Amino acid sequence: MPDYFIGIDLGGTNIKMGIFDENVKLLNSISSPTNAQEGPDVIINRMAEMSRQICAENDIEYASLKAIGVGAPGPSNIAEGIVVAAPNLPKFRNVPIKQMIKDRTRKVCVFENDANAACYGEYVVGAGRGADNMVFLTLGTGIGGGIITNGHIIHGFMDNAAELGHIIIEMDGRLCGCGQRGCVEAYASATSTVKRAVEALQAGRQSSLMEIYKQKGTVTAKDIYTESAKGDALALEITEGTAKALGILCVSLLHVTGPRRILFAGGMIAAGDALLGRIRHYYNKYLWPLKPEQMEICFATLGESAGMIGAAALACEFGNGSCL
Ligand SMILES: [Zn+2]
Repeated sequence: MPDYFIGIDLGGTNIKMGIFDENVKLLNSISSPTNAQEGPDVIINRMAEMSRQICAENDIEYASLKAIGVGAPGPSNIAEGIVVAAPNLPKFRNVPIKQMIKDRTRKVCVFENDANAACYGEYVVGAGRGADNMVFLTLGTGIGGGIITNGHIIHGFMDNAAELGHIIIEMDGRLCGCGQRGCVEAYASATSTVKRAVEALQAGRQSSLMEIYKQKGTVTAKDIYTESAKGDALALEITEGTAKALGILCVSLLHVTGPRRILFAGGMIAAGDALLGRIRHYYNKYLWPLKPEQMEICFATLGESAGMIGAAALACEFGNGSCL
């Protein structure tokens, strides 16, 4: 009887669940609104019900489900499987999610932070495949990240490693949401990219973005890339600023972890080569000339499924122990 694994991405809006074979091949997926206000008991009960449902719907005997991997947001205690706090799951305070899932499903559960899970997904079946040393960055409201070194996710003391968005790239620079100044997130997340453009428009800079800003009261990262492709000077300047911040970040990451590959994910990668080419340009510009580096900078390929896939890959890799 073949073994099966479940990967769960617990988000503030949706619970995404996939059922996978032992090669981490996705067979089918389902999702359900999280309804975060219902709190951990109800939500984790729903996850357990969904586990049984996805097996039944795919004619998989529940007994051949070997392990469940779950990725959840926010600071956590990985070894103990505890969500310490999650900004978009306000009732999740010190929730022993791993034990709760195990109790409700009678399955082995493997727990990971959601950005690390997405990183692991890209490593196992996405654009990081074959790169035992890699860094994963996701550009969204903030900048999330994960680091793989010699095939292992780096957790650090107190599980607080890989807060890559809060690496400082400018002394006394822009104020970040975290309270520090000069974090890369304060320049190059999708939100900060938009914020820098809006600040320039409010300061009276001429730009084709002004029409959009007047109509919608804001602009999107997509608007900025569209207008920069048309040659608008301000949009180009903002795009260059984002790429420069990320290129400098890549230089620092090279010097810290020595990755084979750095992957960028998140909605902003829809900007395509306009963004990737510029990040590579600034990386090369600021990188030391001492020796040729073989590091690659690429886009991730799994999109929003990365966290779910990574959770399943972790279940596959570490879920065979008999902790029942
Ligand atoms: Zn910060």
